[in-house]
Amino acid sequence: MDKLSASPRIREALSSMKVESYLDAILHIPYRYEDFSLTPFKADYEDKERIVIYGKLASNVRVARFSHRDCTRFAFHATNGGFFNVEAWNRSYLGSFLKPGENYTLSGIYDKKRNVLSMLNLTKGEVSKEEALRPIYHLVDPIKQKSFQNLVAKAFEKVGMIETLVPEEFCHKYRLLDKKEALYRLHFPRNREDIRQGKRYLKYEEALLFELRCSLIRDLNKKIQKRRIVPIDREEVKSLIRNLDYKLTGDQKRALGEIINDMDGTSPMYRLLQGDVGSGKTLVAALACYANYTRGRQSALLAPTDTLARQHYENLTKLFEHTSVKVSLLTGAFKGSERQSVLDDLIEMQTDIVVGTHALFSKGVEYAALGLVVIDEQHKFGVNQRSALMGKGDDADLILMSATPIPRTLALTVFGDLDISTIREFPGGKRKVATSLLSTSDIKVQEKIKEAISSDHRVYIVAPEIESKANKGRHNSVKEVKALYERLYPGKVALLHGQMDAEAKQAALICFKMGISPILVATSLIEVGIDVKEANLMVVYEPTHFSLSSLHQLRGRIGRSGEEAEFLLLNDEEEENEKLKPLLESEDGFEIAEADLRLRGPGEVAGTRQAGLPDLAFSSILEDFKVFEAAREDAKAILLEKNNAAFDKIKEAAKEKMEDISLA
Ligand code: ADP
Ligand code: MG
Repeated sequence: MDKLSASPRIREALSSMKVESYLDAILHIPYRYEDFSLTPFKADYEDKERIVIYGKLASNVRVARFSHRDCTRFAFHATNGGFFNVEAWNRSYLGSFLKPGENYTLSGIYDKKRNVLSMLNLTKGEVSKEEALRPIYHLVDPIKQKSFQNLVAKAFEKVGMIETLVPEEFCHKYRLLDKKEALYRLHFPRNREDIRQGKRYLKYEEALLFELRCSLIRDLNKKIQKRRIVPIDREEVKSLIRNLDYKLTGDQKRALGEIINDMDGTSPMYRLLQGDVGSGKTLVAALACYANYTRGRQSALLAPTDTLARQHYENLTKLFEHTSVKVSLLTGAFKGSERQSVLDDLIEMQTDIVVGTHALFSKGVEYAALGLVVIDEQHKFGVNQRSALMGKGDDADLILMSATPIPRTLALTVFGDLDISTIREFPGGKRKVATSLLSTSDIKVQEKIKEAISSDHRVYIVAPEIESKANKGRHNSVKEVKALYERLYPGKVALLHGQMDAEAKQAALICFKMGISPILVATSLIEVGIDVKEANLMVVYEPTHFSLSSLHQLRGRIGRSGEEAEFLLLNDEEEENEKLKPLLESEDGFEIAEADLRLRGPGEVAGTRQAGLPDLAFSSILEDFKVFEAAREDAKAILLEKNNAAFDKIKEAAKEKMEDISLA
């Protein structure tokens, strides 16, 4: 193949954009388009309106120089009417480029107050309708937009055929262009529709490959054979369950059943255990650890914070009090001999279950027989951290826990290569948390807080950010709210946010738990797993700052004793109240997540954005969710059918980059 450019500098720049061939250039699609369609003449343009005009210079070009920048000014007469004072920053070259009497097309932002058009772009002559949409590429210096477009034009002449990977029946079903045509239209669009159609093909192809890969990985995982299988002693697990102070809920039983079956299976388990906060996932995980213990293996329970790890450790210690299971704790706070002794116990099989934070997969931590890894709040951990911990075991089974209920359709796409167990039911029936919307100044707010404190309850006060950003005109940052409450309730207010160090956080939580400071002002940090039974009131400032799922998570922090609790959303922007309505109407985390999915898109469903989404070139699982849903069904059909050459072709293509999204 001939060189993309004669200049080594350009070739180097292209190469840093991963453009090594003509096909690469074609696959480097514009990230946006500049629209040069003329703006119809108006007597009165809006402030900050983007305007495109065609016409002639109507004055000399003057350049004013300042210390770091310069401003070029001229008057412009638009052919379809109107004179404009134009200014352009740092484009002094315009002085020699612009010629009186010549025609130009110019785009700019209109500043109404000063009656000035601030120039964005300018080209010689009239832009024809067909060329009105100019592609803009991400480029590396010294490559210019125009020269890259020329390269792409040449590339289309040189490449010959570009294979349309999507099998014809699906192209037909969704009325997709063929791939070369799709790409061509993205580079040389005649109108918006060309761009839309071009993208439709690329998104679908990518989604289909992604879904195929997920299914293939899942199949591969199921084919991995565990080297030794010691069956779980189910009778022993049942006997522990019988001795609990309470009965498992139906959902808990079902989830545990699914887990134990997987663990007894011939290939390692990859299972997501999802359920609302307080639905009793941790207990299910603990029982899975016990099941693992009955087959002579160790379990590691990984939590995202020290506080949570400690909490789990205490709960597990209590749960296994009357058994011979040995539970230990390992966090980053463990140093020297203390840490060493935990490590020794692990390698000498003196520990059956270790609970901890990142420290669990740090160097030097070795297990005698790690057989089960449980990851709480899985979205707080990356894929690499998961595999680091899995790597310390031998055919270890994996449970990922998530307290952010993700609608099933979304979960299947986001966690394409996992099996899913879901807990919907709450132990002890429905929570009694009343949710209401109030204005910030409503006197009921302070009345309720006073009442809670005087009856020895705890109050969470949540605000959106640690410090107010000066430009936003808000005054409800955590620090400001803390100051306000400190004045109202001197000495009774603790503070908790992510910028505090671990010790200060721990101290704040202890003071709160013990009632020394019955009010805790915090960021949504408390969304995750904090368990203070005495808390029966939560007040949220600026609730619209949070997604519904996040608010629902926050709500899950109160009423944990089974007593009645209140969740107060302080919202002063009445027109926003509508958005918060699903919270007033439903207590089911899945329904609320569905509402987020519907109203605000999958990106707003808490936990999905952090779920370790794959990096895709043309599509996004969150924005193009519907495409992925369709592609998932199609992938299933493709994998089921044998002896179809078109299907085989895309299957092979899917296999090529499989390790990119593989789980462990
Ligand atoms: P999650 O991890 O899903 O947030 P937990 O497992 O921490 O929920 O359970 C929340 C609380 O409910 C804990 O105090 C736990 O002991 C209790 N619990 C769990 N399962 C049951 C049950 N079946 N019956 C009664 N209480 C339960
Ligand atoms: Mg939990």
